[in-house]
Amino acid sequence: MQEVTDQLNIKGIRTKRGGKISINSVTRMLHNRKYIGEYKYRDIVKPGGIPAIVPEDLFDKVQERMVSNKKAPAKHKAEDEYLLTTKLFCGKCQCLMVGESGTSQMKKKVHRYYKCVSVKKHQGCDKKTVRKEWIEDLAIAFIRTIVFDDDLVSMLCETATRVQNQENTTLPLLKKQYNDTLKSIDNLLNAIQQGILTPSTKQRMEDLEKQKTELSIQIIKEEMTKPIISAEEIEAYFNRLRKLNFKKIEHRRRLINTFINKIVLYDDGRIYFGCNYKDCSKEMTFAELEEANVFSSDISALGAPKYRIESFDLVRYFIL
Ligand SMILES: [Zn+2]
Repeated sequence: MQEVTDQLNIKGIRTKRGGKISINSVTRMLHNRKYIGEYKYRDIVKPGGIPAIVPEDLFDKVQERMVSNKKAPAKHKAEDEYLLTTKLFCGKCQCLMVGESGTSQMKKKVHRYYKCVSVKKHQGCDKKTVRKEWIEDLAIAFIRTIVFDDDLVSMLCETATRVQNQENTTLPLLKKQYNDTLKSIDNLLNAIQQGILTPSTKQRMEDLEKQKTELSIQIIKEEMTKPIISAEEIEAYFNRLRKLNFKKIEHRRRLINTFINKIVLYDDGRIYFGCNYKDCSKEMTFAELEEANVFSSDISALGAPKYRIESFDLVRYFIL
């Protein structure tokens, strides 16, 4: 829910009164049955009473999800949650790597790891298993290189400012056409008052009215597509991400789901990170990540990342 709220605000979506979207507004929206067309007046409920804009099966799925999210914390212990499920791939055979655990007989200690599906099914791959904590730490380390990249944040802020200051050339044109149409309607009305009435006058009037309506819709649409996200909002978003606790399971899950879309793991020390923002994707070696001091025990003391990320895709994501 917090993620949805953040994304709406970052895209410049505002409430009816022009305020920022709060987590409560999102909660209300997700529960609001008006979206599936239910009209309610006091105790009377009329399905289909208003136009539905959300399909009912989707709405039901969301309700189920909200119920299961409420129960989620008790469902299983945090360390049993494999955060990279469906995202981690074997570099040798391109199969998914899935979470597994085993208990050592000697010390009764539980070991958790990811294993290539092909290895699991004895289909010929010999990729080594990797420790769950190790690979998840590596993914978080990679995300940190994005989140703590000051140059990237200033670049995003600059772009946001530039895009917003760019003059919209369509809007003045539409407004001029709209005013011209109003003038034509006025002229025609004057003509009618003076008794100048031909069979085509009625048709002409209808055409002009139709044009007026179409133009006003286009103007509204154009005003809505104009990005209204500010540099301050982008900065605030990154500051919130930077304050997350990179060891806490909820925050780790949120970071991984926001940024990572695919990780491919090779046995020769290479690792590929596929980012949800295309241009952030990168192939690195474990050594490089270690060099970036990502395994420092005091994770908050990390300095600026050494690896620049070319993130035009990220810009596009925030602005559009
Ligand atoms: Zn494999």
